[in-house]
Amino acid sequence: MNTEELIKIEDDYFINTFTRQPVVLDHGDGVRVTDIDGNEYLDMFAGIAVNALGHNHPKLVKAIQDQAEKLIHISSIYYNEPALIYAKKLIDRTAFDRIFYANSGAEANEGAIKLAVKYTGKSEVISTVDSFHGRTIVTLAATGHEEYHEPFKAVLPKGFINVPYNDIDAIKDAITENTAAIIVEPIQGEGGVHVPDADYLKQIEEICHERDIVFIVDEVQTGFGRCGTLFAHELFGVKPDIMTMAKGIGGGVPMGGILATEKVASAFVPGDHGTTFGGGPLVCAAANAILDTFDEENILDNVNEVGEYFIEELKKLDKEVIKDVRGKGLMVGVELTKPGAEYVDKLREAGFLINCTSGNVLRFVPPLIISKAEIDEFVKALDEQL
Ligand SMILES: *Cc1c(COP(=O)(O)O)cnc(C)c1O
Repeated sequence: MNTEELIKIEDDYFINTFTRQPVVLDHGDGVRVTDIDGNEYLDMFAGIAVNALGHNHPKLVKAIQDQAEKLIHISSIYYNEPALIYAKKLIDRTAFDRIFYANSGAEANEGAIKLAVKYTGKSEVISTVDSFHGRTIVTLAATGHEEYHEPFKAVLPKGFINVPYNDIDAIKDAITENTAAIIVEPIQGEGGVHVPDADYLKQIEEICHERDIVFIVDEVQTGFGRCGTLFAHELFGVKPDIMTMAKGIGGGVPMGGILATEKVASAFVPGDHGTTFGGGPLVCAAANAILDTFDEENILDNVNEVGEYFIEELKKLDKEVIKDVRGKGLMVGVELTKPGAEYVDKLREAGFLINCTSGNVLRFVPPLIISKAEIDEFVKALDEQL
């Protein structure tokens, strides 16, 4: 079937939830993907900040192949070695004590909110405007976009308060004796790549500490090296009670997780939470390969070096349509003075996959293995299109 015929299947049979780009991707190698017509693209999107090691990375592929031959799924009722090894490996590198395996970002946040509610016995959660925490009912309530809430108002839980991002006074004003948790992204992704002031997270941490409120960082997008440290909250010197993760964790396999301190994690007992697929051997084998390769190939060094270079090069672009360039590591946004959709199309036609979020922010979240030469290739194309 050709591209047009294949896309018609989506039109005819899928529940209509996505505005897709009109390409049917077939295979990838490193930072490049190829569609079924043989057109090659430089991937500046990495499947929404997921493909940390790019496409078809030999170590990730081998880990998945080897594990698939042994065991794919066994359920959480039995132990499996990749999940156990990974838990220790990850927690040894963080300030957290315990893990729960989930399957997606939304599910991780859903579990984190349940944990905070159980721990505190309280019912209110503060989150921020323009945040994104997921599409399930509870994470939708936490997500700071009124327009997403509107059709589901009738079933959204009460107790979710959205306050402006990077505004500590707004958080102070929203706290009551019923506040269970504050959930924030260390750097807002979907909302348009917003980096908060250096002391914003620290101040949240202090307030949470004083009032025994659970401090949750949603690192679903910022985690796993995206911003130059393994987790972005490390950039701000804070120690949250709970962190959620997904996207980059398994380099493309569907996986998520919650990390928590011993104190908060101890609120859960068997029966409070669970999952059929979470922490399965296949995805955990992939996650192990990701962390090992981060070390073996100095991925974080590359993120810092290439990320800084990328932002510098973008700042050199002298274009009236550019309003702001911002970001950290390889999570970079270019805010335009007008809607960005046309540039997504133009760049795709020129062989580059990018994304536009928040209407007018071009968002670049390429594989973390991207090189300066590939950045040069992209910035030149962007320059031409803008
Ligand atoms: C993508 C994202 C989510 C939701 O993750 P899913 O895997 O799509 O459920 C939650 N929080 C943040 C910050 C995200 O970027």
